[in-house]
Amino acid sequence: AGSTAPVVRFAPSPTGFLHIGGARTALFNWLYAKARGGRFLLRIEDTDRARNSPEAVAAILDGLKWLELDWEGDPVSQYSRAERHREVAHALLEAGGAYRCYLTQDELAQMRAEAEAEKRPFQVRSPWRDKPASDAPQDKPFAIRLKAPREGETTIADHVQGDVTYSNKELDDLIILRSDGSPTYNLAVVVDDHDMGVTHVVRGVDHLTNAARQTQIYQLMGWDVPEWAHVPLIHGPDGAKLSKRHGALGVEAYRAMGYLPAALRNYLVRLGWSHGDDEIISTDQMISWFDLDGIGKSPARFDFAKLEALNGHY
Ligand code: GLU
Repeated sequence: AGSTAPVVRFAPSPTGFLHIGGARTALFNWLYAKARGGRFLLRIEDTDRARNSPEAVAAILDGLKWLELDWEGDPVSQYSRAERHREVAHALLEAGGAYRCYLTQDELAQMRAEAEAEKRPFQVRSPWRDKPASDAPQDKPFAIRLKAPREGETTIADHVQGDVTYSNKELDDLIILRSDGSPTYNLAVVVDDHDMGVTHVVRGVDHLTNAARQTQIYQLMGWDVPEWAHVPLIHGPDGAKLSKRHGALGVEAYRAMGYLPAALRNYLVRLGWSHGDDEIISTDQMISWFDLDGIGKSPARFDFAKLEALNGHY
C-alpha cells in the first residue's frame, strides 16, 4: 500500500451469470485501480467443480466486457493453481504454522454432539495440534490444519466497516488442505491474492469473517496483509434481500432490457457510494472521485425507477 499503485481483483465464483452485486463489486475495484494508475485483475474461483460451468465463466466475461470493465492480462483460474496451494500448505507445515490432523469424521461428529448436548458453540479442538510427530499414525489420511493463535485478537481494519475485532478464541484451527489433497477456499484466496500482488481486497461483506481467517494465514506465512473494504449487500426497495423481481438479475438481463452500460455504471456506483447529491456521474468523474472510504456502511436499496430515469440521460 502507501505510495505504490494499488493492485485489485474481482474474484467471482462461476456458478451463474454476473449478477448485479458482482457487477458493482467489479466496478468499485475497477474504479479504484483506474484512478490510481493501479491494476485491475480477474480471478475465476472455479475450485468447486460440481457447481462451475464454462457457460458461467463466459457469461461473467461477457458481462464485464459489456460494462467496459477491462481487466489486465488473462483471467487466473484458481483451480489450475491447486499445486501451488498444496506447496504453501506444506511450507506452513514445515514452518510449524500448521499441523497434521488425524481426526476422523466420526470423532468430529462426536465432538459436535458433545457441544450440542452441553449447549455450547461447536469448535474443533484437535488433540493433534500439540502431539509430537512421533505419535502420528502411519499410513492414515490427515488434513492440514492451521495452528491458529489461541490468545489475543485478530482485527480487520476495514475501509468500509471500520475496525472489526475477533477474539482468537472464537476462531478454530482452519483446515487448509483436506485429506484428499484439495486446498480449501481460504487458503486458495490468500495464496492467489499474495501471488497476484493484490494490495486491496474489495468484496462483499459476506466475506468479513473469512478476512479474519485469511489474516491468520497471512500472518503465519509472514506475508503482508492486504487492505480490506467489505461492501454492504444490495437490498430490495422493501429492505429485504434483493429478489429477482426487484432486480437480482444478470447483467445480460439489463442489457436485454435496453439499459446502456454507461447508465448501469452510473446507477451501480451510486448503490452504496455517492458524491454529494450528484445523480448523473460520468465515468471520468467516477474515476476521479471514487474512494473506498466513501462507501456507505448500510445496505443500498435497488430501485428500478431510478435506473430507468437515469437511462434516459445516456
Ligand atoms: N469468489 C467469491 C465470491 O464470488 C469472492 C471471494 C473474494 O472476493 O475474496 O463470493
